[in-house]
Amino acid sequence: MDGVVARDGRAASRFALLAASSRLLLMPPIRPLSPELVNQIAAGEVIERPASVVKELAENSLDAGARRIDIEVEQGGMRLIRVRDDGAGIAADELPLALAPHATSKIASFDDLTRVASMGFRGEALASIASVSRMSIASRRAADAQGARIENGTTRPAAHPVGTSIEVRDLFHAVPARRKFLRSDRTEFGHIDELVRSLALARPEVEFRLVHNGRPIRMLKPAADEAAQLQRAGELLGDAFAQACLRIDHAAAGLALRGWIGLPTASRAQADQQYFHVNGRLVRDKSVAHAVRQAYEDVLYHGRHPAFVLFLELDPAGVDVNVHPAKREVRFRDARLVHDFLYHALHDAVAHTRAGESAATPAPAGAGSAGAGYPAVPFRQFGLGVREAPADPYAALLGRRDASTMAEPLRMPEPEAGEAPPLGYALAQLAGIYILAENAQGLVLVDMHAAHERVTYEKLKAARDANQVRSQHLLVPEAIAVSEREAAAAEEYAEILAAYGMELDRSGPRQVTARRIPALLDGADAAQLARDVLAELAEHGNSRKLEELQNELLSTMACHGSVRAHRRLTIPEMNALLREMEATERSGQCNHGRPTWTQLSVAELDKLFLRGR
Ligand code: ADP
Ligand code: MG
Repeated sequence: MDGVVARDGRAASRFALLAASSRLLLMPPIRPLSPELVNQIAAGEVIERPASVVKELAENSLDAGARRIDIEVEQGGMRLIRVRDDGAGIAADELPLALAPHATSKIASFDDLTRVASMGFRGEALASIASVSRMSIASRRAADAQGARIENGTTRPAAHPVGTSIEVRDLFHAVPARRKFLRSDRTEFGHIDELVRSLALARPEVEFRLVHNGRPIRMLKPAADEAAQLQRAGELLGDAFAQACLRIDHAAAGLALRGWIGLPTASRAQADQQYFHVNGRLVRDKSVAHAVRQAYEDVLYHGRHPAFVLFLELDPAGVDVNVHPAKREVRFRDARLVHDFLYHALHDAVAHTRAGESAATPAPAGAGSAGAGYPAVPFRQFGLGVREAPADPYAALLGRRDASTMAEPLRMPEPEAGEAPPLGYALAQLAGIYILAENAQGLVLVDMHAAHERVTYEKLKAARDANQVRSQHLLVPEAIAVSEREAAAAEEYAEILAAYGMELDRSGPRQVTARRIPALLDGADAAQLARDVLAELAEHGNSRKLEELQNELLSTMACHGSVRAHRRLTIPEMNALLREMEATERSGQCNHGRPTWTQLSVAELDKLFLRGR
């Protein structure tokens, strides 16, 4: 019986479809859309989910100069979103206007559009939200004796402190099609929480409170100083970031950049912790992403992404924020200038992560940091009296002989009497891989291969940039079997190779002869080095930008020049490496973004041994 009805029903609807399609040939007359429909269509663009409502309301609060924003939601925001602020408020007679489409107090002319400093200006958010929910607004300005409330189109006097409260109930109740796309309460609340955290990050001077189903979730006090701001950043990005980041504060050419960037060791597999704000607005921008990638190029593995929280301030006339309905994208008037400014600011900061200087490690403190009651161990007790090692190829690797020939000789700071250098003095070598050293904080552990690779890389780079890579004749030229492509690469890139201190002559269809290698790599296996470098050139020479390729070449070469694991080092050799690290840019990470050293403080050691003090 049911089946018959169903079949009949289907037949009937097929008929309706046919009728409808034939009607299509006879187009209905053109009519203006009802204002309600216009708003609902606009809402489709701007209001995707409850978090979008919170975003629009909270941004309005910020535009109204709020110092405190309370956000209360129920059932992931689907049942209720209430945003209260202590901002400027809305005049009673303007309440209906606030809800009218394309009504805004923020711009009056097209000209204004080119210098908006506020978060909103399209004047469509409130109207859109109201068209897909039950909305009420209550507000009072400081100048008014009494507040007012608008609900269902009527405005009535109402008690309200200075500021504005907007309630949004039953979002999408009239648009079931959109309701279907929403996820669980938890997921929707997750989006709201993420949004609130990112707003709180962008506006540290504002207090934020977020409550879900009556439970307080975030209570963020205004962050007045840098330390409090970093704490907020930690709350958003996690402690790992807060503990391994660098402070950025840089201004030039009318641009100012501040914030924090994660050290390469705090890099991520996804670009999920990248918060870039332009005049207080969180945005995504391709040229920004590119500048960041370039700045980290030397210190990150391919496929790793740095974490950062950055705030760029510039004249609002220099940036067009009117290119995206949800205002997530911007267009810079002078994109090149912004790109280069960012690149230099970040690149310099990353370059200055010298060992012992990074924010990730406690600054080398003077007396007293060893902890009260801890017998300070005199550094010189540990083998530093050992005689200088005899001339050793390793000494050359460390640059002691070569330092004089470099364009910019790397300084080797001599510790002042009684004062330990940041990375301290070597005690011993462990497992043929690690150097153990003692500094003012306690124990320093160094991955000697990674550290030396970084030192060699920076030296080669400095020498190359100064066109002064010194090369060294091989006493016995070495014939090396390579692939045909690699042999061809040796011919094609002879000039580049020469700039790196290498001479590899093609001596057969599948053979090259190595005659010179960089002096810095003295002692390296020439055949292996040549093969790797040629493979690199043959593989990428055509497809990549020369600059990129060259740094990769350097890193390949540095790897060959570096001490291999399981090589026994003398104490003076170890100390020489520690001093080199202190003097080398970016020595906190190896070329692949792995850390080169770490610190175990006396307090941490005490914890290991449950030694209470
Ligand atoms: P827009 O923000 O693009 O101007 P909205 O629809 O979001 O458009 O808001 C319309 C107007 O309502 C704003 O221009 C502002 O004058 C007023 N308004 C909205 N929210 C607030 C608030 N929290 N405090 C004061 N005024 C507000
Ligand atoms: Mg707005």
